[in-house]
Amino acid sequence: MTTEADCIFCSIVAGARPCHKVLETDLVLSFMDIFPASQGHTLVIPKHHYETVFDIPESAMQAVSVVAKRIAGAIRAELAPDGMTIVQVNGAAAGQTVMHYHVHLLPRTQGESMRLHGSNQADPARLDALARAFAARLIELHPQ
Ligand SMILES: [Zn+2]
Repeated sequence: MTTEADCIFCSIVAGARPCHKVLETDLVLSFMDIFPASQGHTLVIPKHHYETVFDIPESAMQAVSVVAKRIAGAIRAELAPDGMTIVQVNGAAAGQTVMHYHVHLLPRTQGESMRLHGSNQADPARLDALARAFAARLIELHPQ
């Protein structure tokens, strides 16, 4: 069982590891997956450590879901993908590799197969550009 102390996502939330941030709210953080399964693959996580759907409070799950919907819209506005897979898996048997609740946003291209985890690390400059573009689209779509 992963604890907060050795959780990669908790260390990102704490600022101890860098990320290509798309959005941060009081409860939620969104950033680019550094091993993208598709171009624009983005993660949305609660800032507090919960392992799975069985642990996360409904209120935190709602906060994550609202951010996921908004970022999905921003990704669509920026990349105009043919479709989008939104997936959340629980437990190693289901394919969960980081034991901190997270939602994957996966822009999809017609006819292109996909695995949940990419095998190659993406170019950091490209991820940074995408994160900035998505963040700008969020502001366009949801002005304060
Ligand atoms: Zn964590």
